[in-house]
Amino acid sequence: MDLNYTASELQFRDELRAWLAANIPANWNGRRPPGATMQEQFAYLRSWQKRVYEAGWAGVAWPREYGGRGASLIEQVIFTEEMGTAAAPPLANVLGLSLIGPTIIAHGTPAQKQRFLMKILSAEEIWCQGFSEPNAGSDVANVATEARLDGGHFLINGQKVWTSFGWAADWCELIVRTDPAAPKHKGLTVLLLDMKSPGVEVRPLRQMTGESEFNEVFFHDVRVPVENVLGDVNNGWNVAIGTLMHERATLGVAQQIAYKRQFDRLVDLSHQTDRNGAPAAADLVLRQKMAQVYAELEILRLNQMRSISRISQNGAPGPEGSIHKIFWSELNQRFQQVAQEVLGPFAQLEHGSEFAIDEGEWVYSFLRARGNTIEAGTSEVQRNIIGHFVLGLPRSY
Ligand SMILES: Cc1cc2nc3c(=O)[nH]c(=O)nc-3n(C[C@H](O)[C@H](O)[C@H](O)COP(=O)(O)OP(=O)(O)OC[C@H]3O[C@@H](n4cnc5c(N)ncnc54)[C@H](O)[C@@H]3O)c2cc1C
Repeated sequence: MDLNYTASELQFRDELRAWLAANIPANWNGRRPPGATMQEQFAYLRSWQKRVYEAGWAGVAWPREYGGRGASLIEQVIFTEEMGTAAAPPLANVLGLSLIGPTIIAHGTPAQKQRFLMKILSAEEIWCQGFSEPNAGSDVANVATEARLDGGHFLINGQKVWTSFGWAADWCELIVRTDPAAPKHKGLTVLLLDMKSPGVEVRPLRQMTGESEFNEVFFHDVRVPVENVLGDVNNGWNVAIGTLMHERATLGVAQQIAYKRQFDRLVDLSHQTDRNGAPAAADLVLRQKMAQVYAELEILRLNQMRSISRISQNGAPGPEGSIHKIFWSELNQRFQQVAQEVLGPFAQLEHGSEFAIDEGEWVYSFLRARGNTIEAGTSEVQRNIIGHFVLGLPRSY
């Protein structure tokens, strides 16, 4: 693996860097404009994504015919790195861009690609992922939401849970049971569901960060046309696995840059934070812990290159993406713990408090990190995948 960029990759990076320097909105100051609700924040990020798309930077590695740039995966990684380094606002349609678009590219009909991909890139249509249910999380093949064929439509009844961005979504990649008599992995189908269809009910769930990023979604006799089957009927497991592998292999790319930027800020703050009459930076134990986080962030970057290299060679992520998923999610929890130790109790104050550090960013990221080892499959499940599919150990279940 060559970790150096080629001349054309460097040119791509420099052009993008210049565009970002000229176009990042002046009023963007981090996580959320003061006083903005989650909905206002989302509208802001949606219009930012539209601007990125119109300038030709969205879907860097997606085919040109569907609105992408037709560039390489490495350039896609450069895009993510530069967005992070410039502290640009994130793109709103995160699940559409990172998981669902690539799944439609892999399994969609030409008509589905034509219909959906460009609007994912422009953020005209926001997507959510309807996989988990109350009895189907780690064991996602256990889904009970049923889809019965009724003429040219499937009739959907059931419930999903933890549906991130369900409240904002126009469309959902939905996994349903189409053949209850078949073995559980064989009777599943993936549908592209219009979230505005009659019978779809979204109920936000409140998280410990105070936000309601995810939701319960209920389906009461919802009609989905058969043209909206993604892949083949009763072959939904293979389609869904493709989505999950993209999720595990790529979600950490943006995180790595965000953590690095946050870590640099922690180093700055450690010089200004008093600890027993001296700067926290001089505390021998804290220095050890910060150095350890720094070393692990470097390992994360190299692991990420390995995942990307694998996708470049094979066209799809493999189970090794699980190594990356475990590493970035557990590293972030260790990092946030160290940050709290370095910054002390003021880091626990939330946005809006006069004494909050960095407008409450640190308590937010500490609390949000708890979900990292659950979303996209828990650490235990990732270890099961590595044990079986990478090491060849017997299945654990
Ligand atoms: C922030 C966040 C965002 C999310 N967004 C979405 C989304 O957009 N769409 C979506 O569909 N889902 C989403 N999820 C749901 C997520 O995929 C599930 O929470 C996750 O797969 C775990 O399922 P569960 O919560 O049902 O836990 P369970 O599956 O009930 O697991 C409970 C515990 O048992 C352990 N366990 C289970 N099976 C095994 C096993 N075989 N071996 C060892 N240990 C095991 C687990 O590791 C866990 O500790 C999100 C979750 C979070 C936290």
